[in-house]
Amino acid sequence: MGAAQANPGALATPAVLGLSPYVPGKPISELEREYGVHDIVKLASNENPWGPSAAAIAAIQAALPELWLYPDGSAHELKQALARHLGLPAAHVTVGNGSNELLLLLAETFLGPDRSGVFAQYGFAIYPLVIRATGARCLVAAAQAPGSAMPYGHDLATLAAAIEPDTRLVFIANPNNPTGTWLEGEPLRAFLRAAPAHTLVVLDEAYLEYARESGVADGLAWLDEFPNLVLLRTFSKAHGLAGARIGYALSHPSVASAMDRIRPAFNVGSLAQAAAIGALGDLAHVQRVAQRTAAERQRMETILRGRGVRFVPSVANFLLIEVGEGAARIYENLLRAGLIVRPVGGYGLPRHLRVTVSLPAHNDRLLAELQRLLPAGSPATP
Ligand SMILES: *Cc1c(COP(=O)(O)O)cnc(C)c1O
Repeated sequence: MGAAQANPGALATPAVLGLSPYVPGKPISELEREYGVHDIVKLASNENPWGPSAAAIAAIQAALPELWLYPDGSAHELKQALARHLGLPAAHVTVGNGSNELLLLLAETFLGPDRSGVFAQYGFAIYPLVIRATGARCLVAAAQAPGSAMPYGHDLATLAAAIEPDTRLVFIANPNNPTGTWLEGEPLRAFLRAAPAHTLVVLDEAYLEYARESGVADGLAWLDEFPNLVLLRTFSKAHGLAGARIGYALSHPSVASAMDRIRPAFNVGSLAQAAAIGALGDLAHVQRVAQRTAAERQRMETILRGRGVRFVPSVANFLLIEVGEGAARIYENLLRAGLIVRPVGGYGLPRHLRVTVSLPAHNDRLLAELQRLLPAGSPATP
C-alpha cells in the first residue's frame, strides 16, 4: 500500500496542504467541557450580545414550516429587499453563507497559481487563507508603524505599492479586525482612484454599522464610480445573526455574475434569508445596538486609560488590549474565570488580546478580572 493510500489527505493540492486552519474563538460548550466552569461569557468572536431584532426571529419562525423545501437559490426576495434598502439594482448583489463564503468565492473566481492577492499586516486572518487556497501568492503590506497617525492600522501607501501586475484582489477591512482601526473617506477614495483596473478592491465592511457613528467612510457611494470596487457586508455582527450565516457582496453586475458561476446552488438557507429580510425591516434595532456598543466601548476605554492599560483605539464592537508579555497566561486565567477572549499571537500580536464589547455586566466582569491580573500600569512600559 502506498503512502498516499495510508494518508489520503496528503493528496490535497500543495496550496491546501500549506494552510493552517482558521482558529475561531473557543465555543462556550467547549470551555464548559474542558474546564468545568459555568456562567461563561464569550468575548472572543465579536458577536452581538444584544441579539437580533424581534422581527428577524419572527421571520425565522414564520419560515419554519417550509423547511422541507430548498431555499430560493437566487435569493430573489432578499436581493430585492437589499436593493431597496441600499438604493441600487439587485444585479449588484451576491448573497453568501456569511461574508466568509463570499471571500472564498471572490478568491476562487479571481485568483489562481499565476496570480496574487494583497492584504495588510494585521488584516483579517481569512484573507491569506482564501488567497493561498487557490495557489495564488500572498502579498502583505506593512501596517502603519507605532508612533504614526494610527498604529496597527492599514497603510494605504504600502497597500498601493504592494499591488503587482498579476494582483487581482486587494482586501481592505474598514474598520479592520482584529485592530479596530479605520480608514478615512478621502484617502480611501484616492486609493480607489489610483488602483489599477486589473485589480479588484474588496472593501470588507463587516463592522460598518458600529463605525457609522464615528463617521467612518461607507463605500456604497463609490460603487458606480469604481467598477473594480467590491463591498462585503454581513448580518453576523450588528444585526446579531452570526448563527444564521448570511452576508452579501455589492459589486459591478459582471463581478456578481462571474461569482455566480461557482456559487453553490443553495448556499444560503431559507431561515437565514428570512432572518435577513426581517432584520432589514428593523434598522432602528441596529442603531440601538450601535449606540449601546459605542457607549460601552467608550466606558471601557476610559476605565482602561485610567488604569494605564494600553489599547488600540477602536470604532468597532471590540478592543485590542495590550496586556504585555503574559498574554497567554492572562488568556488562560480569564478562561478559568469563565471569560473567553481572543489571543492574537497568530496575527503577530503576542502582547495583545482582542475582547468583544458586550453587555455592561459582561464588560464589568472582564474589567474586574483584568484588574486582578494586570496590576495598574504594568504592561504600559514597552
Ligand atoms: C466577522 C467578520 C466577517 C463576517 O464573517 P461572516 O462570515 O459574515 O460571519 C467578515 N470580515 C471580517 C473582517 C470579520 O471580522
